[in-house]
Amino acid sequence: MSTDHLLLAGGGHAHSLVLRRWVMYPHLRPTGLITLISRKSTTLYSGMVPGLIAGHYEIDDLSIDLRGLAEKAGVAFISAEIVGLDTKNNSVLLKDRPPIEFDQLSLDVGAETKCSKGFNNSLEEDSIIAIKPLPEALKWISNQDREDFLMNNDPLTVVGSGFSAVEVVLALRTRWPLRKLYLQADLLKLNRVFRPLLFYSNIVLISPLKSIKGQTLLCTGSKAPCWIEKSNLPVDSSGRALTTQTLQVINHPNLFAVGDCGVINNHYRPASGVWAVRVAKPLAKNLERCSKNLKPVKWHPQKRALQLLGAGKTNSKDARAWAAWGDVVLGPNSWLWRLKQAIDKKFMEKFDLSEMDDSSNRTHVDMACRGCAAKFPAYPLREALRKSALSDIAKYPEDAALISSVEGSESILQSVDGFPALISDPWLNGRLTALHASSDIWAMGALVSSAQVVITLPNISIEVQKELLAQSLSGINSALEEQGAKLLGGHTLEARSDSPYPSTLGIQIALSVNGFLSGKLAPLTKAGLNLGDQILISRSIGSGVLFAAARLGKGLPRHLDDALSELAKSQHNLLKPLIKFENQENQGSAIHACTDITGFGLLGHLEEMLSASNFLRHQAGQPLVRIKLYADLIPSFNGVLSLFGAGYSSTLAPENRKAWNLLEKNGNSLAPIELSLGSGIRYGSKEYSAILDLIVDPQTCGPLLIACSSDVAGDLITSGPWKKIGDVEHL
Ligand SMILES: Cc1cc2nc3c(=O)[nH]c(=O)nc-3n(C[C@H](O)[C@H](O)[C@H](O)COP(=O)(O)OP(=O)(O)OC[C@H]3O[C@@H](n4cnc5c(N)ncnc54)[C@H](O)[C@@H]3O)c2cc1C
Repeated sequence: MSTDHLLLAGGGHAHSLVLRRWVMYPHLRPTGLITLISRKSTTLYSGMVPGLIAGHYEIDDLSIDLRGLAEKAGVAFISAEIVGLDTKNNSVLLKDRPPIEFDQLSLDVGAETKCSKGFNNSLEEDSIIAIKPLPEALKWISNQDREDFLMNNDPLTVVGSGFSAVEVVLALRTRWPLRKLYLQADLLKLNRVFRPLLFYSNIVLISPLKSIKGQTLLCTGSKAPCWIEKSNLPVDSSGRALTTQTLQVINHPNLFAVGDCGVINNHYRPASGVWAVRVAKPLAKNLERCSKNLKPVKWHPQKRALQLLGAGKTNSKDARAWAAWGDVVLGPNSWLWRLKQAIDKKFMEKFDLSEMDDSSNRTHVDMACRGCAAKFPAYPLREALRKSALSDIAKYPEDAALISSVEGSESILQSVDGFPALISDPWLNGRLTALHASSDIWAMGALVSSAQVVITLPNISIEVQKELLAQSLSGINSALEEQGAKLLGGHTLEARSDSPYPSTLGIQIALSVNGFLSGKLAPLTKAGLNLGDQILISRSIGSGVLFAAARLGKGLPRHLDDALSELAKSQHNLLKPLIKFENQENQGSAIHACTDITGFGLLGHLEEMLSASNFLRHQAGQPLVRIKLYADLIPSFNGVLSLFGAGYSSTLAPENRKAWNLLEKNGNSLAPIELSLGSGIRYGSKEYSAILDLIVDPQTCGPLLIACSSDVAGDLITSGPWKKIGDVEHL
């Protein structure tokens, strides 16, 4: 069986542990491309969820960083929603993205809540939610913290008779000591051992026959996602894919299914995290064996597994937990709670990326920053251009070249840009590269009309190359189509160096982009700074350090998620209001200067604006200008300043820091840029150093930066997303 592309669908407990194994023992990892697709970049460790609801833990305490884990394991990571499985064409169907082909697929997508028909219809209502998917349910519970719910003592009913219903209602009691709480359970199914504590915790048991009013949380058992059954796989009554003891789906030897979404035929085990954890090792072994064309081996799971249950402290007793062995439940007991906490903590420590030694897994080049942080620095670039007698290009560089301009008619602009894959998701990487390249055209005030692309593919099997090319092209096209632009053609190359792990990081894309500027409008340039202008920025900066830290397993995954979702948004819509102002302005341009922030960071690009503007001003006999930059107004992505504070930075940062020479020191008012500190930032403090690093951080898909009069600035700031970060003053 060929395993050029192994797809891990869902970042459940089993897949998380499989990835960890490949971080710890890289020689065990199958050699082809491995991709993990999961809804979010983190997954929650279920054993600590009741403790989270009770308030004993923060969400980060039980979040496993799937993207970071995958990266360390040499596995590509894609954050996307799987909506189906095409077993004929061996592809997984994704929401809002093209399908992905695989040779071998492993399913660990967990389960959804099994709702009775009555509740199914009411799930649209705000007052009812199912416990799974967990992130949505946790958000709903947080919303219930609102004072109006608590002050009115609005009752909340948990529905369910199993362990999770009991754990959740007890956890809610800890969260809301005084709120009216009901548990609607089938008394025949509810283990008797829980009843005294429910009683002492003032949780009222109600019959399943009673109709519920008010806020309702369903913990009514689980079923596998329905797309598994719809893909014609053999399933049990809960929609779980039926497998053999080798964990391969019956009659589908290239499909594996584990955790809550799979069950071994005739070896029923309940859907629970314990089994999803235990199956990880046999699954990993069989994936590894299949990749070497070895026969997979049978797994003989034990009949029962010990489960520790508990939500911590309730208002009647100290923190307690139960031990469940099948249907036999012992407790509650305080030492069981301490044991549970210790086991849970140890489990999560396994996923501390900073503690995982993967030095044998990745080379120095693998660790170097990507995207725009892989650019050649500004100063040696100028030197090289000078040496090759091309200094004119470097003198006053614009973001795009003016190819032709006919007065009164249209101007044609062209630019070229690209970089080694920023991220291991080939579709998103293609989209980001196309948006990044388009940004040079936008910075000249034009819309992109067409593009051509050169894609270098890693040196791997032709089938996988084909898939990576298709994914990259679709991603590029998604960015171009959204702007009304067309991909006209291009070229492909195959790298002559060894492919990295994952091979998706070996993709390099460069795009040549063309844009039109119609009618009387002149292209925007960097060179028009005017006295009294305001400097506006269109989005936050700091993506360089977020990616750099993530490569070292540092920073919070949600901060990188926030940044990525922002960078993946096209900024072409920002041009409409700019063009409107340009058209309205009778006396010259409304937007006096424009550029985008990329590899050289904010400071490097401000320098370009200043030197181009002052050159023209000098020639015109006008007074020279400088920029006053307001440190406390520069927007940065969440988590960026603390990463700088902790000493992280992009590999391009040391070169970019040379631009600090531009900053005014010791009252030297001849310096081109004054960094004005807000009231909260002291000169020489940690915050000050973080700001210094922020302004030289290289950006991929960075913001647009404009200079305009205060009137125009006022309108742009009001309509957003523009923010003021500086003023243009006399030098
Ligand atoms: C409140 C509560 C408490 C629990 N406590 C315990 C406990 O203490 N001990 C225990 O053993 N069990 C517990 N369980 C059960 C446990 O949650 C599950 O059995 C366990 O999480 C199953 O693990 P899994 O690996 O199969 O899937 P999951 O942990 O559910 O992981 C599935 C992953 O796949 C991703 N995914 C799902 N669908 C898609 C899709 N369509 N596209 C892309 N990605 C997708 C999800 O985002 C998730 O990352 C509890 C359950 C609940 C509700």
